Amino acid sequence: MPVSKQLLDYQKVDSDLRKIELEIASSDERRKYLQARKVMKAALDRLDALDSHAAELIRMRNEIASRIEASAKGLEEYDDLDEMLEGGADVGFYKKNAQLMLDKLRSVKAELARLLSEIENVSAEYKKLMEQGRQANKQYKENKEKADKIEHSHDGEIKALQEKLAEIGKTIDPKILEHYKLKRKEGIFPVVVPLNGEFCVCGRDFPLAQQGSLAGGNMVECENCRRLVYKI
Ligand SMILES: [Zn+2]
Repeated sequence: MPVSKQLLDYQKVDSDLRKIELEIASSDERRKYLQARKVMKAALDRLDALDSHAAELIRMRNEIASRIEASAKGLEEYDDLDEMLEGGADVGFYKKNAQLMLDKLRSVKAELARLLSEIENVSAEYKKLMEQGRQANKQYKENKEKADKIEHSHDGEIKALQEKLAEIGKTIDPKILEHYKLKRKEGIFPVVVPLNGEFCVCGRDFPLAQQGSLAGGNMVECENCRRLVYKI
């Protein structure tokens, strides 16, 4: 793969395009809306978890309700207590039973209190998350709009540079251009660099013995930074 003036020209124009891309990517507004998006995502995940927890609390509430219902049925037996006692029933037995039912009701009452406080906690957290989500959504919208504006303010410049690149690109071996674009996409820039003495820009040395492969303007991939190195 020989280096060419066209490829170097292409890279020069591409570096202008890259500058704009970096400016867009590093704007405060972009950073803010990406941060807000993260907060929204975290709030939604937590709301999902709260939903499962709320379902569990409902299940517990239903279970307690059915136990209270069972206790109420037990109490129905006492409707006829006067008659039963007149008929000679054992007061001690009923007293003991009543005590048991009372104990059960007390424990249900304690469980219910715990459950209610848990429901209050969940409800408070839910409200907090909704508010957080609402704020983050507002931040997201505002900053996304500003970031989009910044991005679009460069539309003309970007288009012109892309047209220029397409024009120069036509004069470059498609295989070499594709190779270049792939590296550019991977975040390597500049892609094509001249050998500086015995060294690549990253500091990796190209011993004299290896420099034969650079003869005739041939580009060799640096083993360290994967740039395409050529010798002037
Ligand atoms: Zn290198």
